[in-house]
Amino acid sequence: MNRPILPGAMIGVLGSGQLGRMFALAARRMGYRVHTLSPDSDTPTGQVADVEITAPYDDLDAVRRFASQVQVLTFEFENVPAETTAAAAEIVPVRPSGEVLYVTQHRLREKTFLRQHGFPTTDFRAVRCAADLRTALTEIGPSAVLKTAGYGYDGKGQHRISTAEEARRLESVVERQEHILEAFVDFACELSVVAARGTEGAFCHWGPILNTHSRHILDTSVCPAMLPPSVEQEAIAIARAILEALDVVGVLCVEFFLSTSGKLLVNELAPRPHNSGHLTIDACVTSQFEQQLRAVCGLPLGAVTQLRPAAMANLLGDLWRDGEPDWPAVCRFPDVKLHLYGKVEARPGRKMGHLTALADTADEAVRRVTQARAALRRPPVSQPLVV
Ligand code: AMP
Repeated sequence: MNRPILPGAMIGVLGSGQLGRMFALAARRMGYRVHTLSPDSDTPTGQVADVEITAPYDDLDAVRRFASQVQVLTFEFENVPAETTAAAAEIVPVRPSGEVLYVTQHRLREKTFLRQHGFPTTDFRAVRCAADLRTALTEIGPSAVLKTAGYGYDGKGQHRISTAEEARRLESVVERQEHILEAFVDFACELSVVAARGTEGAFCHWGPILNTHSRHILDTSVCPAMLPPSVEQEAIAIARAILEALDVVGVLCVEFFLSTSGKLLVNELAPRPHNSGHLTIDACVTSQFEQQLRAVCGLPLGAVTQLRPAAMANLLGDLWRDGEPDWPAVCRFPDVKLHLYGKVEARPGRKMGHLTALADTADEAVRRVTQARAALRRPPVSQPLVV
C-alpha cells in the first residue's frame, strides 16, 4: 500500500491557470502547501500558491529542481511535454501518470486508444497531407470537423467542413500540421462525467452533467442532467471503464455527445478537473478539486453527494467589453456564487471566472445563473449628443 501524503506536505502543480488556482485553494484549506511551475508569472494559480516558479516546461533542470521540492506532482494543463513529466517522475510520483497525459494530450492518440479499447467514438481518420484529407472525406462522408491533433482546446484549431470548397481551402492547412478528421455528430446534447480514482482503485463520479457550448467554448453546465436513466448509467459505466483502462490516479473528465439517434459517443478526455465540474465546489460535499487532492495524495476519496441542484455559467472576457462587469448586481442573487480567477487582461473568449447557482430544481438553477450573468452586463454608456 502507498503511504498517504499528509497535510503539511508540498504539492507540485504543473500549469498555472484557474484549474490550478481552485486546486490550490482546496489544498491550502486542508493544510497543504502548493508550488506551481509554468512559463508565466502572477498567474491564477501563483496568486494563491505558496511558491510560483516561472520556467518553460522544457527547462528540465528547473523541472527537476521543482520536483525535488514537492512530495507529489499533479497538473492542471495537459499540454506539458512528455519529457517534462518523465523528468519529474524520476524524482516524485506524478499523478495521473505521464502515460495518461501522453494519450490524452493528442486527439489522434486519444481516439485511437478509445477505439482500440472498444469505447464508442465518431468515425475519424488521421490527416497528414492534402491527399489524406481527400481520402478521409470520401471514407467518412462530406460532413466533418477537422481538428489539430495536438495542442487544441476550446475549439482552437477546429474547422467545420460541409462543402467541397471548404475542404479545398483547408488543404494547405493540413500540409503544415498533423490533424484528425472526425465525422460531424448530429447531437441532441452534450454531457460530461467527471470522475476520480484513488491509488487503491476506488472510483467515484458526480453524475452526468449537461453542457451547452457557445463558439465551441463551454457556456453552461447543469447537474443533475435529467437525462434518461439508461443513458446516465451507460455514460457512468463508460467513464469508469476509461479511468480503469488508463489506470488513472486523480480526476478525469469524459465528454460525450448524445446523438439524435440516442447513441453515446466519447468526444474528448481531460485528465484533470474540468470546467463542467466547477459546480461541485458549491453544490457537493467534496468538490472535484478536493477529490483530485485526496486522490493524488493517496487519501480516501470524499463523498460526492450533491446538496442541491446546481448550474454553472462561464464568464468570458467578452463581458468586460463595456467596462468592469456589475459585481454588486450579481451579488443580489443570494443563491449565486461568484468565482473569479485573478486574470488581469480580459480578452474575448478568455475564461475569467464563473457563476454557480443553487436552486430547488435543475431548471430553476439554469434560469437563475443565466439571469445573474445577464445582470453583470452594464448597459452601454449613451453618448451625449453633440450639436
Ligand atoms: P472539442 O474541442 O473537441 O471538445 O470541441 C469543442 C466543441 O465543438 C464540442 O463541445 C462540440 O460542441 C463541437 N464539436 C467538436 N467535435 C465535433 C464533432 N465531431 N461533431 C459535432 N460537433 C463537434
